Amino acid sequence: MSGRVPEKYQSASEIADLVTTREISAVEILDRYLNQINEHEEDVHAFNLVTINEARAAAKETDRLIVEGEKPGPLAGVPVAIKDNLCTKGIPTTASSKILEGWKPPYDATVVKKLKEAGATIVGKTNLDEFAMGSSTENSAFGPTRNPHDLSCVPGGSSGGSAAAVAAGFAPIAIGSDTGGSIRQPAALCGVVGVKPTYGGVSRYGLLAFASSLDQVGPFATSVKDAAIVHEVIGGYDPLDSTSIKQASNSFVQVIDEGVNKLKVGIISELMGGIDGITHEVIEQTNKAVSALSDAGAQVEEVSLPAALYCLSAYYLIAPAEASSNLSRYDGVRYGLRVDGANLKEMNVNTRTEGFGDEVKRRIMLGTYALSAGYYDAYYGKALKVRRLLAENFADLYKDYDVLLSPTSPCTAFKLGAKVNDPMTMYVNDVCTIPSNLVGHPAISIPFGSGKDGMPIGVQILAPPMKESVMYQAARTLEQASQ
Ligand code: GLN
Repeated sequence: MSGRVPEKYQSASEIADLVTTREISAVEILDRYLNQINEHEEDVHAFNLVTINEARAAAKETDRLIVEGEKPGPLAGVPVAIKDNLCTKGIPTTASSKILEGWKPPYDATVVKKLKEAGATIVGKTNLDEFAMGSSTENSAFGPTRNPHDLSCVPGGSSGGSAAAVAAGFAPIAIGSDTGGSIRQPAALCGVVGVKPTYGGVSRYGLLAFASSLDQVGPFATSVKDAAIVHEVIGGYDPLDSTSIKQASNSFVQVIDEGVNKLKVGIISELMGGIDGITHEVIEQTNKAVSALSDAGAQVEEVSLPAALYCLSAYYLIAPAEASSNLSRYDGVRYGLRVDGANLKEMNVNTRTEGFGDEVKRRIMLGTYALSAGYYDAYYGKALKVRRLLAENFADLYKDYDVLLSPTSPCTAFKLGAKVNDPMTMYVNDVCTIPSNLVGHPAISIPFGSGKDGMPIGVQILAPPMKESVMYQAARTLEQASQ
């Protein structure tokens, strides 16, 4: 490994095989990735914290288990970077906000626990837009992350640190959260694979809530198969998450190579030029992906998802509404930062004024307004109707189609600072990804070629709830076509 973006990535499954068969130790693997971090992290700033000591101890423990003949798990010795809005026991978890300064969670998020049990080595906590609100990772209280493909560009967001960490070869796997596109959009901009699982498919226990009805945790990887492996590890029923789905899902990995021969694929016309703001080159590249699927034997047709036109507006009412409630817990009493005042109320106000950044404050105000008496029906109530309409649109389409396809992001990675002063332009980045969140369906972004600027372009495959198997099949076919 050398260079900011390694020539070739080593897959997580390969690492786990080598470590399990003792061809290489988990500690040696870790050291390789730490070297890459040492060389390039200063430029990229993917991490809020690299947990070198804990990582080394975990890798040693994996090696010890293997020497003693115990089963080390499917991610034996695989370095994994964790978005810094997922709780890690005894290790600072900041959501890239000043308001959580000094706070250390007393427990691991379920996904973190499952990754550890699978033998993974947690290497650190990655940077994000404060409380996952943003599309560029520029809303972090600790400064932006940069795109490893071009340091003058953003990595996307809000899981920009996780996407950049995988793209830069800092870890073969990273975990992110996706409320409106925060895994898929940065995956597209950084040229890696990113998955938002079915809502309820992966536990949200230990995820710092942004918008609880939309948030999902999912993987970043350098290949579709690696993403599927990690998805299997972190997924499944969790009694600690009341929205967790009880139904066990089939193995995705087992069927991943079954191809698209029998599949019907719908191309969402609204996201292929129907809605303004999606660049010509992104549409062109997505059309190439369509051809690739049809060459591979899929039956491909253009379809309409009329409610897609209203998703962005609905999302920017529902997500802030839920956020305004979720973020009320940061009051200077229970977590992190406290800025004193003459009385309790003043302390609350001072803490929140200093602790939260501008975008978070904007969302809290938007949400509080949308939920206030007199406006509730006009804004929040209307948004819920769009959500229902969208679910009906999708249900109709899935009577005839196995998966749907669209671009992931409307454009390639933009320059740092280009959109920070224009929230509306920033919000448009989520126009292709938000529909899946509003209905709780799974979706994946796969790198598929690049734009004129040489920056990666991602294509998105959407699937019905709990039908990830077919999503991974189509994604795997596209991945092969792009190589
Ligand atoms: N960019 C969107 C927002 O700012 C989505 C964020 C996310 O998925 N966490 O809300």
